[in-house]
Amino acid sequence: MSQAVCSVCGEPAQQVQPNDWIAPWGPPPDWSHTDGSSLCPTMVTGGVGPCEPEFI
Ligand SMILES: [Zn+2]
Repeated sequence: MSQAVCSVCGEPAQQVQPNDWIAPWGPPPDWSHTDGSSLCPTMVTGGVGPCEPEFI
């Protein structure tokens, strides 16, 4: 079974919506760090947003 990690910092990621997300940012991502914070920001289409998890 593969493990999900944040593709920027390499910390483990969990398939849980982040607890620091606020509605004006748009729909919450499905993934967060294991402490509940959103994944590290990276350049995404249209600006900066949380990165996608990477499976190792
Ligand atoms: Zn991260």
